[in-house]
Amino acid sequence: MERTFSIIKPDAVKAGKAGAITQHLVDGGLRPVAVKMVHLTQKEAEGFYYVHKARPFFGDLVAFMTSGPCIVQVLEGENAIARNRELMGATDSKKAAAGTIRQKFGIDIEKNAVHGSDAPDTAKYEIGFFFSGAELARLGVTIG
Ligand code: GDP
Repeated sequence: MERTFSIIKPDAVKAGKAGAITQHLVDGGLRPVAVKMVHLTQKEAEGFYYVHKARPFFGDLVAFMTSGPCIVQVLEGENAIARNRELMGATDSKKAAAGTIRQKFGIDIEKNAVHGSDAPDTAKYEIGFFFSGAELARLGVTIG
């Protein structure tokens, strides 16, 4: 069993796709074990995406991620990190494979419906960015 971190981004929440995306994740073998809705501040979005701060699209990405509420969650399943990336599809929704979440629910390379951690160390960092140890412990989720 592995855990990963997922965001249903503002475009998908605004479009009423959060339920359908969650169903897609569950059908794909990923179970939400901690979930909440948050509206990111500019500083939070900048902090979460700090690895991209030198990229030309950083300002646009931060504006998008603060444009409305999103749903942040911890997903559990076998090979959860790779499985989630597979279910999500390629970054650019226009190029994502048929049947993937980004192809079905995203709009373009920026407004691509979901985020998913790309490695164990980033999953740990990203879960910790949004969920405190106390919150996770209350839900019986232990990250070690
Ligand atoms: P991911 O791991 O597939 O989400 O892709 P990245 O880590 O490379 O990028 C993070 C996020 O930045 C993506 O999910 C998009 O929302 C956004 N993004 C990536 N590339 C571009 C781009 O070229 N232009 C814009 N506007 N946004 C981008």
